[in-house]
Amino acid sequence: MQRYDVTFQLTSPTAKFTAMERVGMVILGLGLLTWVVALWGIGIDQPALMFWGGLAAIATSAFIYFQRYLNRPAGINNDGVWLNSAMAGVKGLVGWTLGIVFTGFYIILYWQDAWLANFVTIFEPLSQLLRNQPADKWFMYGTLYTLAVLIMGVRMLYKYRHNKYQILRTISVMFFQLGFAFLIPSLLVMFNQPEFYFSYFWPLKYDYLWPSSIDWLTGSGKLGVFMVFWGGLMFFLATPILTFFYGKRWYCSWVCGCGGLAETLGDPFRHLSDNSVKAWKYERYIIHGVVVFVVVTTALLWTNSATSGAVLGQASASFSKWYGFLIGLIFAGVVGTGFYPIFGNRVWCRFGCPMAATLGMLQKWFSRFRITTNGGQCISCGNCSTYCEMGIDVRWYAQRGQNIVRSSCVGCGVCAAVCPRGVLKLENGPREHRYNGPVLIHNDRVSVVLDDDWQAETKGMMPVHQEDIPVLTDSDWKGMG
Ligand code: SF4
Ligand code: SF4
Repeated sequence: MQRYDVTFQLTSPTAKFTAMERVGMVILGLGLLTWVVALWGIGIDQPALMFWGGLAAIATSAFIYFQRYLNRPAGINNDGVWLNSAMAGVKGLVGWTLGIVFTGFYIILYWQDAWLANFVTIFEPLSQLLRNQPADKWFMYGTLYTLAVLIMGVRMLYKYRHNKYQILRTISVMFFQLGFAFLIPSLLVMFNQPEFYFSYFWPLKYDYLWPSSIDWLTGSGKLGVFMVFWGGLMFFLATPILTFFYGKRWYCSWVCGCGGLAETLGDPFRHLSDNSVKAWKYERYIIHGVVVFVVVTTALLWTNSATSGAVLGQASASFSKWYGFLIGLIFAGVVGTGFYPIFGNRVWCRFGCPMAATLGMLQKWFSRFRITTNGGQCISCGNCSTYCEMGIDVRWYAQRGQNIVRSSCVGCGVCAAVCPRGVLKLENGPREHRYNGPVLIHNDRVSVVLDDDWQAETKGMMPVHQEDIPVLTDSDWKGMG
């Protein structure tokens, strides 16, 4: 008897590997093995071969795997995400394994870097080429970081190829990571100039406005003076102006390296972001606490500098040390990236980044940016809330036809990209009426009018007069995150 493999499902719950993808897995294993054995010194007398050989294998396997996006019709296809062992985060074995590997890598990088000495050796030819300097652990880390953004950026381009906004945004983060956060700092080192990152500003790069950094930069020549000028210009002038016109997305989703990694390497984990009210409450306290920490630290350092250390003594130095350790190392690195498979891809941006908090305040009160919602078209599928990496319950707004003006929104646009009804639109419009109340009557908005005459006449009927329904003003809605 002949058997037919027939299914009436519109989506496939699990994505099976094709024969070609299995070949890709083998190539990936070989590439990773080439790099892992270098930890024990195997093959490091041929560093160029080990580095480029491993990279070629990893990149080849990635591109073989990414073909699955090209083989599908254009449009977002997130079939089986929650059933996939890697993408189910803490519920999946692969998710746990990835979380432990990422976190373990950061712990070794910061506290056991001697274990990485052999591995760093295979980056030597590239370091000599770009910087004319021996490779060190930070060059190795920067190279891996940039490769992750570039390789996973190609995946984003394949996956979102129907969406112009996502294509431009992905090319932008790849460009800024490769150029501004990797090549330019490397070339500066080659020409004996300060290693400076033109795409990072205070308070994210917290020490760029500290007196010691400014002394160091201004003392290193005209280019150093320009770097101080650039840092000040970008924070005090460009940041408020660009945020006024475009919201925080101009930085968080188009320029920032942390955002770039979150949007590329972290994209498969975006649905793991917690969108409960409880998470939102923690988020607000923690991220604004970090802003206070960095502002106090900077103020203390300047006070100390102005009084030649007479007033505060070692207090400011302890603050800066603890800020660097707790926020720069543990939060931004170990938790921020290591926990992608556990808490989603924007843990650092949501809970720890002082730049995101500062931009968020500007976005909430002084920006033209909002996401408009054509609520009448919403079918409440929840895709938007599921794939919002900042844990915003987008559907809640869409169901009410209410604009989304949230300080945490990074303007990634994925909510709009995954909406099957075209409900959501990222806009920079006039600021008037940016905060609007619900324009649709929702079941929690219908109220009974207690007027005796009216009640007697209409007993048993629903009160439907528009004027009887309380309308909240702009200021009522401004009180919400
Ligand atoms: S609300 Fe939309 S644009 Fe904003 S962070 Fe969430 S998914 Fe991105
Ligand atoms: S994805 Fe679109 S249709 Fe689905 S809940 Fe969100 S706004 Fe509504």
